[in-house]
Amino acid sequence: MKAGCHLSSSGGYLAMAQTAVSIGADVFQFFTRNPRGGAAKPIDKADVDAFLEYAERNGIGPILAHAPYTLNAAGEEPRVREFAESTMMDDLKRLEFTPGAMYNFHPGSHVGQGVEKGIELISGMLVRIFDAFGRIPSTTILLETMAGKGSEVGRDFEELREIIDRTESRIKGVRLGVCLDTCHVWDGGYDIVNDLGGVLDEFDNVVGIDRLKAVHANDSMNVRGSHKDRHEKIGKGKIGIDAFAHIVNEPRLRELPFYLETPCDLQGYKEEIALLKSLAQGD
Ligand code: FE
Ligand code: FE
Ligand code: ZN
Repeated sequence: MKAGCHLSSSGGYLAMAQTAVSIGADVFQFFTRNPRGGAAKPIDKADVDAFLEYAERNGIGPILAHAPYTLNAAGEEPRVREFAESTMMDDLKRLEFTPGAMYNFHPGSHVGQGVEKGIELISGMLVRIFDAFGRIPSTTILLETMAGKGSEVGRDFEELREIIDRTESRIKGVRLGVCLDTCHVWDGGYDIVNDLGGVLDEFDNVVGIDRLKAVHANDSMNVRGSHKDRHEKIGKGKIGIDAFAHIVNEPRLRELPFYLETPCDLQGYKEEIALLKSLAQGD
């Protein structure tokens, strides 16, 4: 199986790949810039080239870039939406330096405007970005399944489907994907502990299983349906180790890259990567 974790991007691409190898990871996730927003560091072409060569040689990838948390395409204030649009555009341009990467973002929070308005704002932004990009990005863009905290959009599969439909119907050739966060879907009410197969059947019916491109592997501090979004270490939360054994062996998930976002330091991540791999049969 392919497993890795979220890493600090402060040392650049090559440093992240080296760190990944040092903890037994095959993949990694990183923030494109400060998670609370702000400008990204300029692309260091020498670092990117060294990374690409190193990643190829060590079998690292696909890498998953995570948009900042402050990116809210469904915000009420124009300045919030403009920040979301210009940031995603800039991120996608930068990711062209590392072809084949994936880009994950939280669809947004409608902040009281209602889910319908939120969905329209999010797909509207995506359409304008793809339009302005001028060609199909080499990056696969993923909507993350959300816990439904506050006014988060993407709290169920239907909302994701609606964003996908409204985007793809207005722009030719674009195909959006989904990143399934185990903590978020659990907190959102989906019973991945007792009925993982049923949840994936539902995902397939509503969104289409071929849209699923990545898994955020996180246990949850809270009970199912809590809409809290508090990540816990694997096996230490309400999802539990038995469920993760099913998750990593599920035929519809096991070929996907798994990215840990648990409250761990590097040593902790190294142990959790080994744990996930030991749970995966045949490894
Ligand atoms: Fe996320
Ligand atoms: Fe996540
Ligand atoms: Zn989360």
